[in-house]
Amino acid sequence: MNRRSWAEPFKIKMVEPIRMTTPDEREAAIAAAGFNTFLLRSEDVYIDLLTDSGTSAMSDRQWAGLMLGDEAYAGSANYYHMEDAVHRYYGYKHLIPTHQGRGAEHILSRLLIKPGDVVPGNMYFTTTRAHQELAGARFIDIICDAAHDSTSLDPFKGNVDLAKLQTVIDRHGAAKIPYVALQCCVNMAGGQPVSMANIAAVSALCKRHGIRIMLDATRAVENAYFIKQREPGYSRKSIEEILREICSYTDGCTNSAKKDCLVNIGGFLCLNDDELAEEARNMVVLFEGLHTYGGLAGRDMEAIAIGIGESVQYDHIRARIGQVEYLGAALEKAGVPIVMPVGGHGVFIDALRFLPHIPRDQFPAQSLAAALYVESGVRAMERGAVSAGRNADTGENIFPKLELVRLTIPRRVYTQAHMDVTAESVIALFEEPERVVGLRFTYEPKYLRFFQARFEPVKGDQVLRRGQAERVPVVQ
Ligand SMILES: *Cc1c(COP(=O)(O)O)cnc(C)c1O
Repeated sequence: MNRRSWAEPFKIKMVEPIRMTTPDEREAAIAAAGFNTFLLRSEDVYIDLLTDSGTSAMSDRQWAGLMLGDEAYAGSANYYHMEDAVHRYYGYKHLIPTHQGRGAEHILSRLLIKPGDVVPGNMYFTTTRAHQELAGARFIDIICDAAHDSTSLDPFKGNVDLAKLQTVIDRHGAAKIPYVALQCCVNMAGGQPVSMANIAAVSALCKRHGIRIMLDATRAVENAYFIKQREPGYSRKSIEEILREICSYTDGCTNSAKKDCLVNIGGFLCLNDDELAEEARNMVVLFEGLHTYGGLAGRDMEAIAIGIGESVQYDHIRARIGQVEYLGAALEKAGVPIVMPVGGHGVFIDALRFLPHIPRDQFPAQSLAAALYVESGVRAMERGAVSAGRNADTGENIFPKLELVRLTIPRRVYTQAHMDVTAESVIALFEEPERVVGLRFTYEPKYLRFFQARFEPVKGDQVLRRGQAERVPVVQ
């Protein structure tokens, strides 16, 4: 045997009990939630894979850090700790804390976008694009074609297609492009990384045209791990070095600290340009809070400062992504159609291949997420047409190529046994997919509709028909 098992680089000091429900309870709960997993109560959820956002377990050092909160209105010591950590690991000159990632996106978009601009990016992200559009820009997708193909095994499916970027520049002119939005471990593509070579090439192209690059650094640490694993020349570099190199090609970043930085709340905006940073600091006072806290308590900034240092430890990031890969391997082995290669923060099920009997306008991914909850109490999330929303000009539903259900793994929260239970419940549905029923809207919010939309089954009143021989639920 040439491969040995590895285990998490931590042990458990405190536990949080979770509750298993009955199928009847879950049918009632999902109906009350309008068949939208976002509207379930967390106490009705057994294994919560809705998101890896703000759901991480903090370390004993981070919890101790909370007690060191300096809650001064101005100039909190914790702000300076956070600034040191951001300088050291991300390398940008100016730090502006925000309440979470979208607070940073709001300020960046208002700061740089003029009505009529276009923002090219390697696939949209929901809140990012919403803020770009609110500021008057149109988002243009420049991600490589492989990103839209759930079967492509390309190791860097997050890469920018340089020819697409060149076309946008030729068509609209650099003056209409306030920045290129470059995302690490592209969320909506399944957590697919960008290669360093691609980042360098985007940077060179943008420099030639005098266009800024703004990094969405939310998953830059996970991206650094994939570069170390997959890109020639990087296997001996530390995660720390790779992260700094990624950031060095860009002019600033927005970051949701609720992901890689291992905290439950927080975010930040970084800028290298002094004047832009000054304007951003003026703006943060209006929308978030003073520039030395930006909507965060001192204790939250301390937890972020410590979390950033923990996030770049190799043992941590290997175990984090290793757990995601473990779940992916279990599903792949059973033939479940998932986005390959498995990305950094979750396993993404291809709902179009999983549920070929449900037409796209009955939202197969939304239906599958609801059915999975009824099956086993596992909460997943739709990443498909419901998340994509409507075309801002025509009002038509957008049907992106990928119609996915995301099983997102919180950091340091669940064990391998939780992954086994999750895999078993997905596989149980995969064996009888025709039990899943399509959905239609009963309420559709105007912005970011996936969060609060409500649905009903197109036939009957259950999203998951009971099996022929009613199985014993996975866990009773
Ligand atoms: C979560 C996320 C955001 C938004 O951050 P919030 O902290 O949720 O406001 C932006 N970009 C990406 C890629 C994200 O995953």
